[in-house]
Amino acid sequence: MTGYSPGDRPPVKGLDPRPGSPETLFISDLHLSAERPAAIALFLDFLAERAARASRLYILGDLFDVWIGDDDDTPPYPEIRAALGRLTRGGTACGLMRGNRDLLLGRAFCRETGCDLLRDLTLTEFDGVKTLLMHGDLLCTDDVDYLRFRRWVRNPLVMRLFLWRSLASRRAIADDYRRKSRAAKAGKSSQIMDANPVAVAGYLARFGATRLIHGHTHRPADHALALGETSGQRLVLAEWTDTGGEVLTHRDGTWQREAVRPLPDQPRSAG
Ligand code: MN
Repeated sequence: MTGYSPGDRPPVKGLDPRPGSPETLFISDLHLSAERPAAIALFLDFLAERAARASRLYILGDLFDVWIGDDDDTPPYPEIRAALGRLTRGGTACGLMRGNRDLLLGRAFCRETGCDLLRDLTLTEFDGVKTLLMHGDLLCTDDVDYLRFRRWVRNPLVMRLFLWRSLASRRAIADDYRRKSRAAKAGKSSQIMDANPVAVAGYLARFGATRLIHGHTHRPADHALALGETSGQRLVLAEWTDTGGEVLTHRDGTWQREAVRPLPDQPRSAG
């Protein structure tokens, strides 16, 4: 129990770090789906090995490529739920934020897995530095069409109406949305889909934070920020692919990026 500073105390209610191993991991944008068995295998190994050694795991949105409701029990969801449950029961606290792809992740999922459902815009603290956690889509303020869509789809009534439909009907709507989203993205400039610097500074100022951690843009980088009189930091998480991922780690006041690779004996998907 050496080397603790007050900033290392559990920053978020309900997330108690495992004693003796005050390490926090951040991941996002895994986009898991049944069509990507290699990515699922990568994530399951990550949970069983790497994440199990950490005190906290933050998943900052888009763990799943699509989520049509916590009642969807088609593979691979039961297996992923079970693996997250093993992780949290083993003593690693897991904070789960919804992304734009899995915004319907709900309380039932969190009850079953022991994950803590985080609000998009969660304020925490590391080494005495106020740190804001976001998925990141709110930062892409140049994408006006998307933000309008986001407001509509996050309307509680719209969400409830969707969840009242049958699983088959929800699946059809979600598939249609994924196709349209892919087409819309192809027609947008890459700048429109990146974080807007004014939005970044605005959210940090609103929360009195100087560090921002987010995903969504798939542009992993450590950005230094000039925030008026002071300076700040924006840490962008990487997306995961079938062949590898990345985890941002915090331990003893140090931030690092670590590659996540398939285990050597892991069967690879064909192609
Ligand atoms: Mn996203």
